[in-house]
Amino acid sequence: MTGVHGFREFNVLISKDVFFSCIDTLRPEYKVFGPVRDGNQTVFKEISSSADLFMDYSTTMLSPGKMFIYKPKEDMLKFRDDGTLSVAEVMTGVEKQVIVGIHPCDISAIFYLDRTFLGEFVDPFYKARRENTILIALNCMQVSENCFCSSVGTGPHLHIQSGYDVLLTDLGEDYLAEIKSEKGFEVFRVKGQETGPNEWSLKSEKEKSLLKSFKKIIDTRGLDELLMKNLDHPVWATTADERCLSCSNCVMVCPTCFCYNIVDEMSMDLKEITRFRQLDACQDLRFAEVHGGNFRSTRASRLRQFVIHNLNYTSQYGVTKTVGCGRCITWCPTNIDLTEMAKEVQRSRTY
Ligand code: SF4
Ligand code: SF4
Repeated sequence: MTGVHGFREFNVLISKDVFFSCIDTLRPEYKVFGPVRDGNQTVFKEISSSADLFMDYSTTMLSPGKMFIYKPKEDMLKFRDDGTLSVAEVMTGVEKQVIVGIHPCDISAIFYLDRTFLGEFVDPFYKARRENTILIALNCMQVSENCFCSSVGTGPHLHIQSGYDVLLTDLGEDYLAEIKSEKGFEVFRVKGQETGPNEWSLKSEKEKSLLKSFKKIIDTRGLDELLMKNLDHPVWATTADERCLSCSNCVMVCPTCFCYNIVDEMSMDLKEITRFRQLDACQDLRFAEVHGGNFRSTRASRLRQFVIHNLNYTSQYGVTKTVGCGRCITWCPTNIDLTEMAKEVQRSRTY
C-alpha cells in the first residue's frame, strides 16, 4: 500500500538480533524509550542499550504516549522582570525520539490524544513532539486480567494501518515487521527476509488464540445511549459513596485522559514567573468549580463523568475514549471497574 506521501509500505521478517542491533544504532541521534523491568513492574524508560528492553511485558502502569509525547508536567512560558518585563517562550521536547514496543491499545490512545491536541486547536508542544517521534508498535502476546481492548476494537493486534511507523509481531526467533512510514524505514535500513504466507498465517493464529483468552468483555452496542438515559441510575451513587476515594488514580493512569491545569509559579526573588501545565483530574472536587459554583460537587457525579466519558463514543470524536487497557481498574485502590458499572446499568436500566 502506498502512503499519503508516496512511501510504499513493506514487510520484512527480521531476526530479533538484527532488530535489536538496529535499535542500538539509533543513539545518539535519537533518544530511545522502551519497556524495561523495574522491580516487579515493567515501565517505559529511556534506554542506553537494547539489552535493557523487556519486550515480553503484559502491561505498564503509565502509557508511553502520556509520558513522552503529552508530558504530565511541562513549562510553557517564563516571564522575567529585569526592570522591563520580558516574556520567553519555553519550547521543549523537539529532540528526536523513538518509542519501542508500544502495545496496540497505547497506539490507539496516542491517536485519541492526536484528536485532542492536533484537532481544531493545535497544541504546539504536543505537535513538536509527535512529529519528532518514531512509534514502533508491538502486537500483544498475552492478555492481562483487566484488558478489554477486544471489546472496543483496539487490540490485541493493531489493525489501523497508519499514524505510526512500524508494527512488530513476535514470531519466536523473528519479528514480522510491517514498515508503515519513511521514518520507520529509517530504523530498519538493514534488510530482513521477505515474508511469505506462513508468517501471515502464524500471525493470524496468534491473534485468534489471544482473542479466546479475554476474561473481561463488554458489549458496547447501544451503550452510549443507555448510559446517557441512566444518569440517575443508583450504581453511580452506590459505587461512589461506598468505594470511591476521589484519589484520581484512574485519571492519572488513563492513556486518553487529557485534561490539564495551568499554573503560574513565582521564583523566590519575585523576579521570574514560570507558567507550566500539569495533568488535572475530573475526580478532583475542585475540577468543576467555576466562580464559586461547582457543577460536579458530588463524588457520584464525578465518577459518572469518568465512566460515561470513557464509554460514550458519540459525544466527542466519534470513537470510544477508552482503549480497554484496564489500567484504571488495576490501579484503583478499591477495585472500581467501569465495565462492571456499565454492566450494572445494562442489567437494571432505570428507564
Ligand atoms: S482510582 Fe478508584 S477510588 Fe480513585 S478516584 Fe478513581 S474510581 Fe475513585
Ligand atoms: S478508561 Fe480505563 S480502561 Fe479505558 S483507556 Fe482509560 S485507563 Fe484504560
